[in-house]
Amino acid sequence: MRLRYVKNARELIEGNPRLIFDNKLNEKIDIDNIFSIKQPIHVEIGIGKGKFIYTLAKQNPKINFIGIEKFDSAIVKALQKVIEEPLENLFLLRADAMDLSKLFCSNSFDRVYLNFSDPWPKDRHAKRRLTHYKFLKMYQELLRINGEIHFKTDNISLFKYSVESIIDYPMEIISINYDLHSSDNNYNIMTEFEEKFSKQGFKINQLIAKFKEEQNG
Ligand code: SAH
Repeated sequence: MRLRYVKNARELIEGNPRLIFDNKLNEKIDIDNIFSIKQPIHVEIGIGKGKFIYTLAKQNPKINFIGIEKFDSAIVKALQKVIEEPLENLFLLRADAMDLSKLFCSNSFDRVYLNFSDPWPKDRHAKRRLTHYKFLKMYQELLRINGEIHFKTDNISLFKYSVESIIDYPMEIISINYDLHSSDNNYNIMTEFEEKFSKQGFKINQLIAKFKEEQNG
């Protein structure tokens, strides 16, 4: 994602240990320690500038949210929102999705959001797609029973790939929508990419799925 270089990104990140856990040691994160209230935990992987997770956290104080992003240049924008108006139930983590099983215990989360994930169109890069079997296996480990994956993208190739990957896993599809904005969905919170691509006329696809019960932890 193209972002203006934020000059003091590192300082902002390092100056906010409660909000950004830049876990260089790959120690497990003690979730109970970061949130004052114990309640369901929803995470978004690849938050970009963080509008989606910030809005969601503000609207849902009875859920704890963790926003994960691998690039300083993106997460620092989300951090700026948090600095302006902190939210008790939102924690930001600068990390690569690949490392999440090293950073969190099994059965930690109730929901994973993936919004407009990088498509990695070349076949040889398929393993980097956040809906590749390898990542689904990791989400299964990290999610509690009945935990869900909520995925949105404008990219139809990535969407088709993801539907197949999820069916083959096998996971159970709860809902699938090839034109989210044409249906009745007042609850939908648009991400930055969603606003941009839907304005350009691209349809937004959404998939909600869960692991079959006998598969969980
Ligand atoms: N969700 C935002 C941004 C989408 S762009 C929106 O919809 O507007 C995809 C984002 O995912 C980028 O910010 C990218 O840095 C981040 N990302 C890609 N791969 C990642 C990974 N493996 N771990 C964490 N973040 C990742």
